[in-house]
Amino acid sequence: MRQVAVLGATGSIGRSTLDVIQRHPNRYRATVMAAHRSVDDMEALCRTHRPLHAVMGDPQAASVLAERLTDVPSVAVSSGAEILDDLVADAAVDTVVAGIVGFAGLRPTLSAARAGKIILLANKEALVSAGRLFMEAVRTGGATLLPVDSEHNAMHQCLPVDLEGRPNMSDVEKIILTASGGPFRGRSRASLDAVTPEEACAHPNWSMGRKISVDSATLANKGLELAEACWLFDRSPEQIEIVVHPQSIVHSMIRYRDGSTLAQLGQPDMRTPIAYCLAWPERVDAGVAPLDIVAAARLDFEAPDLEAFPCLALAQWAITQPGGMCVFSAANEVAVAAFLAGDIRFTDIDKVIAGTLQGIDLAEPESLDAVQALDQAARDVADKQIAGWFTRPEA
Ligand code: NAD
Ligand code: MG
Repeated sequence: MRQVAVLGATGSIGRSTLDVIQRHPNRYRATVMAAHRSVDDMEALCRTHRPLHAVMGDPQAASVLAERLTDVPSVAVSSGAEILDDLVADAAVDTVVAGIVGFAGLRPTLSAARAGKIILLANKEALVSAGRLFMEAVRTGGATLLPVDSEHNAMHQCLPVDLEGRPNMSDVEKIILTASGGPFRGRSRASLDAVTPEEACAHPNWSMGRKISVDSATLANKGLELAEACWLFDRSPEQIEIVVHPQSIVHSMIRYRDGSTLAQLGQPDMRTPIAYCLAWPERVDAGVAPLDIVAAARLDFEAPDLEAFPCLALAQWAITQPGGMCVFSAANEVAVAAFLAGDIRFTDIDKVIAGTLQGIDLAEPESLDAVQALDQAARDVADKQIAGWFTRPEA
């Protein structure tokens, strides 16, 4: 029986993970569940899945949850970063699903890496912000790192991997990273000034959390994923080609030196990559409808439009600077939160990122403290810009 810690249990990745776990009660059990402050959702999930531990990021949410769960004494409710660090590193847990959104997920994921766990990585921001530190922790801790992000999961599926899940890249010529193009594909930059958070979050193919949905709409997500692929598969950005594929059926491709290109195809449903990682190197049912290739009929591919979506070009530059992607990701998080709150326009997101990249020393952060300091410095610069440059758009 695999004991699984689900970090970000109330989110889109967390729920998809719990759905797969529930289909295989004899193989997996969610023994630790963590979320930020959504008490109602967490209470319902605790009643269904009966974890041993429920950890809330927000202490007040934890006390409300504890009160609500007095009739379920088997669930220990707690709060705090140290507690979560210890729980994911505990011998009782063997698999950790990193499904917290943003930089907040770095600490517990790093703890899982140092403790040598099997890590199912969805939280790309953690890897992008602390790439070298994170990959070193995976190596020295003896962890197994399996990518949940659909593109990187596709790459993993198309590569020969060793018993620890590490891919062999020796005959690979190029990684082809696919992008859906998001809800605004084909539109001009000028036409994007007035788009609303609701429009930005209405992804044509995937149902996801709001932050990653906006990242998909700006193509910042593909910038984060470029950096993610570089760390996971030990590539330089030039060895990765980004291709827009609006149907989101081909989840990425690997081109080999002999001219073969391997692709992984599937429905746009995160339960497939999650089930792949949970069961690896075996396969289990994910509850996903089979792909009807005749109904899909067409697979289109085109180059990304960097003029309409400058976030991707900014990421391609930032990735060449040692601390660039930590700053890119922090500034993007601040800008996306401001956009979702109605404080800035969609087209201000890339301006905040560009201004932050210019306003900060992009030296490599060598420790967790240094990564946290660089992330905070970037947030401060981004916040200042938003406060100083932009006025709230008319409702
Ligand atoms: P979401 O917003 O739906 O869920 C986020 C989860 O993180 C929630 O459970 C929330 O409570 C928790 N959380 C947030 N801040 C926290 C904190 N400080 N402490 C503890 N928990 C906290 O997001 P999502 O769409 O599930 O995405 C999660 C991660 O997975 C992101 O990094 C995203 O980029 C990545 N990802 C998501 C998808 C997808 O289809 N949703 C696909 C690929 C990668
Ligand atoms: Mg992805």
